[in-house]
Amino acid sequence: MSARTVKLAVIPGDGIGPEVVAEGLKVLAAVAPRHGLALDTTEYELGARRWHATGETLPDSVEEELRQHEAILLGAVGDPTVPSGVLERGLLLRLRFNFSHYVNLRPVRLYPGVTTPLAGVAPEDVDMLVVREGTEGPYAGMGGVLRRGTPGEIATQDSVNTRFGVERVVRYAFAKAAERPRRKLTLVHKDNVLTYAGELWQRVVREVGAEYPQVEVDYLHVDAATMFFVTQPRRFDVVVTDNLFGDIITDLGAAVAGGIGLAASGNINPEADFPSMFEPVHGSAPDIAGQGKADPTATILSAALMLDHLGYAEAAAQVEQAVAEDLQARAKDGGSRSTVQIGDDIAQRVAEQG
Ligand code: ATP
Ligand code: MG
Repeated sequence: MSARTVKLAVIPGDGIGPEVVAEGLKVLAAVAPRHGLALDTTEYELGARRWHATGETLPDSVEEELRQHEAILLGAVGDPTVPSGVLERGLLLRLRFNFSHYVNLRPVRLYPGVTTPLAGVAPEDVDMLVVREGTEGPYAGMGGVLRRGTPGEIATQDSVNTRFGVERVVRYAFAKAAERPRRKLTLVHKDNVLTYAGELWQRVVREVGAEYPQVEVDYLHVDAATMFFVTQPRRFDVVVTDNLFGDIITDLGAAVAGGIGLAASGNINPEADFPSMFEPVHGSAPDIAGQGKADPTATILSAALMLDHLGYAEAAAQVEQAVAEDLQARAKDGGSRSTVQIGDDIAQRVAEQG
């Protein structure tokens, strides 16, 4: 295997971000060399601290530097001292839009040994891949306010759905579904009420689906989908949905699959015109920051998604395997290890794999 160097930008961020990112990097360092992969990492300080110190969320020069990388590993940004929306819109959403992260990939998988709040559900019942659209829908920032502060005030927030944007994410979802053993794709929307957008999504799924006769296609309204996530998680394999619905159902998915400490995500630009960004679904958790209590597993699984995206599927599978083993061991010993200990143990398991 020929050696390759990948330029990786690291944004540790705020709260528990730096703690969990350190463990993600530790596991990457254990697995990468075994697959001929060298990671050339550069850290960027972005988030609450930088905003307080300089008023900056994402300076153009930093965005330009990030653009020169192949991937970004992010911990979490956000702090109660920063007004809501400043870092979300000024940093996270800006990266998503400017780097065209039109796929937000969120696997929902129940690992053996992990406790789920669902009674009678076995690990094999929960194995889905949520493909959330990342650049459109109500997140596009379209809309406005009329007669602000008056009794007649009107706020509108438009959901933007372009043929181009819907088709590219639907194509990605079908390609993923075709690769998986169950070959099923469920469109989640609300086409009985959001008729214009819903009809476009339905039509695109029908058209692209014609190219994938081997993939079974299903449709659920988002409200029914939330119910079935809980009552019949087996129904789902690949789920494709719009930006807002995807945000909501993946938090539910994370809860079903054992909690926010395990939920991984990738903000992906499949064509690799821009760096894709990988991050745990959870936030900066200021309540437990600096105490060594944060679970780094979600970040480590996000790093595995990154390896897969970079073309190192085997390395990704090794990390997932090490995490699966660690989670089973946790089920036995009760698990009160620190952030660093969990990272050490998973890195050790990777190193011990044949
Ligand atoms: P954000 O607005 O950034 O999404 P949030 O307010 O939704 O943040 P999170 O930071 O995601 O909140 O965390 C919610 C709670 O879950 C935290 O307060 C913390 O107690 C717990 N938590 C989050 N991540 C972890 C983790 N990796 N390990 C352990 N507990 C966590
Ligand atoms: Mg949150």
